[in-house]
Amino acid sequence: MSILNADLHCHSVVSDGTLTPEALAARAAANGVELWSLTDHDEIGGQERAAAAARSHGMKYLTGTEISVTFADHTVHIVGLGFDPRNDDLVQGLSRMRGGRDQRARLMSDGLARAGIHGAYEGALKYVGNPDLISRTHFARFLVESGVCSDTNEVFRRFLTEGKPGFVTHRWAPLRDAVQWITRAGGMAVIAHPARYGFTPNEEYALFLEFKAHGGRGVEVVTGSHTTAEYVTYGETAREFGLASSRGSDFHSPEESRTDLGGLAFLPGELTPVWEVLADRIQ
Ligand code: AMP
Ligand code: MN
Ligand code: MN
Ligand code: MN
Repeated sequence: MSILNADLHCHSVVSDGTLTPEALAARAAANGVELWSLTDHDEIGGQERAAAAARSHGMKYLTGTEISVTFADHTVHIVGLGFDPRNDDLVQGLSRMRGGRDQRARLMSDGLARAGIHGAYEGALKYVGNPDLISRTHFARFLVESGVCSDTNEVFRRFLTEGKPGFVTHRWAPLRDAVQWITRAGGMAVIAHPARYGFTPNEEYALFLEFKAHGGRGVEVVTGSHTTAEYVTYGETAREFGLASSRGSDFHSPEESRTDLGGLAFLPGELTPVWEVLADRIQ
């Protein structure tokens, strides 16, 4: 067992979390996290605040982000860790990516209006901390507030997933671009929560092969999105593909997240942790 309490995946108000980077850092420290990373979706605007807050609590820090990618017509998330947040290609690539979100949100709102739910765009905006990063999560919060659904899971199931009225197909970054932005900025690309994608075994194999070919080096094994059985499955996948293993709660909000910061099982000891490979990138 690798007993470092590392939590290398969570979200702040800079994307679709409900806490500030400072509040997350305080919560992580209180929960015993020793090495932390804030990984906002498609955005690194919170990195300086997160690193400073980590320092003030005596926690080690790795820079982080979670990039939305389209692979084989599925949305896949690639976590980046330990990159230089001032790297131009990374900064500009992410900025271009975020540019599509507002139009997507307006189309989502149109779809919801056709299903009888009006004002969803404006409603979702009330929950947005970063106007560049309106996400499905913000719509989900609005639909809970307005009493249409009782929790955000129900909103996703009934309104925000493929085939449902508020779903809009969107083309995110190509896998190669996301991996290269991270890698060329000195960081490590990590496949986030692989069990979540619903890939067939062949599709999943293709994802891992292409990811490695582009320079990807890690995979999340212990995450809030995996069952204990999936820790074992993806630990084996990590070894099969020669990837380092990561651990992260994917914490978004005290009200919505089942797994708290630092609250996961430890990484199995036979795996190579990402933080060993990234030792010289830890702040
Ligand atoms: P977006 O990037 O706008 O497509 O939003 C994706 C975000 O929605 C994810 O990062 C999760 O935070 C959230 N999400 C996706 N599926 C669900 C679900 N079934 N229940 C609750 N939240 C979800
Ligand atoms: Mn999210
Ligand atoms: Mn994700
Ligand atoms: Mn996430």
